[in-house]
Amino acid sequence: MNKIRKIGVLTSGGDAPGMNAAVRAVVRSSVFNGIECFGIYKGYQGMIDGLIKPLNARSVNNIINKGGTILKTARCKEFYSKQGRKKAFKKINEYQIDALVVIGGDGSFTGAIKFYEEHKLPIIGIPGTIDNDIFGTSFTIGFDTAINTVVESIDKIRDTAISHNRLFFVEVMGRDAGHIALNAGIGAGAEEILIPEEDMGLDRLLDSLRISQKSGKTSSIVMIAEGDKTGKNIFEIASYVENNMPDYEVRVSVLGHIQRGGRPTCFDRVLASRMGVYAIDSLLKGSHNVMVGINNQKMVLSPLVDAVKGKTDINKNLIRVSEILSI
Ligand code: ADP
Repeated sequence: MNKIRKIGVLTSGGDAPGMNAAVRAVVRSSVFNGIECFGIYKGYQGMIDGLIKPLNARSVNNIINKGGTILKTARCKEFYSKQGRKKAFKKINEYQIDALVVIGGDGSFTGAIKFYEEHKLPIIGIPGTIDNDIFGTSFTIGFDTAINTVVESIDKIRDTAISHNRLFFVEVMGRDAGHIALNAGIGAGAEEILIPEEDMGLDRLLDSLRISQKSGKTSSIVMIAEGDKTGKNIFEIASYVENNMPDYEVRVSVLGHIQRGGRPTCFDRVLASRMGVYAIDSLLKGSHNVMVGINNQKMVLSPLVDAVKGKTDINKNLIRVSEILSI
């Protein structure tokens, strides 16, 4: 492989708190190693449109504490086609960029794999997504901040739930994965947690709420991931329960996009910083077409293909913990 002199860094797909800390680490680590670093704005769209600017150590001052991404992110239709990717490669060549760091989720990595297959430009992925559903890493950048945001929100909802003897249904992000619901649900003391990976059934939910009511609970919080396995949306579930438990006042709260924003937690800042430095170290050692991850506190690499095709399992032990603690 040729020596790497210039790298491009981009954030792509859904934004996640901590992406800025990762950009900062990639830029500063590049400068430290004598590599020129270019910021590619708006993800793959910026590659096609040539939204590319040189970054130096000072360009990333005061961003470690900021949510979102200073490089902006976008979903880019054109990149799905071979022609679009060819255009992107042409632009990259104009800037003589000889490696890419892609910070994003599995969609962004799928695009990266195709780009590598067609143009052989070394690419390294950094997992940035609040969902924590990427194979090859125990944690993705943004997950810790998102679950802390959810816990903080539920603490507030609980205050009003207790004051009014209400039963609250709270929807959190997670179309395909229940990591946010399960972790934040336990952290916030939710009564029941409904996730995409397990179907607890609506009757079981009712039974459980009835048992709790009998034992003296006057208010409860039920946490539901967007894609929970009952196949019903949160409003349908709430009205089903309300119809069957008329003495409860039922309310619904959809947390939505607040889960993506906010200042990253220290955990996410440290994770992103370590991943950014490790990405540049790995590129310089000749690794490419891989994703950086963390496993047992150590930085690891795994093929990008595994990150896209593999599936992270839900921690079944957490389900048991939740069941035991919700009596
Ligand atoms: P995330 O990275 O958060 O999963 P997306 O799934 O929206 O987000 O993917 C981000 C971008 O990656 C897409 O807008 C597109 O430009 C690119 N991408 C995703 N899937 C593919 C694919 N199958 N082929 C080529 N590019 C893709």
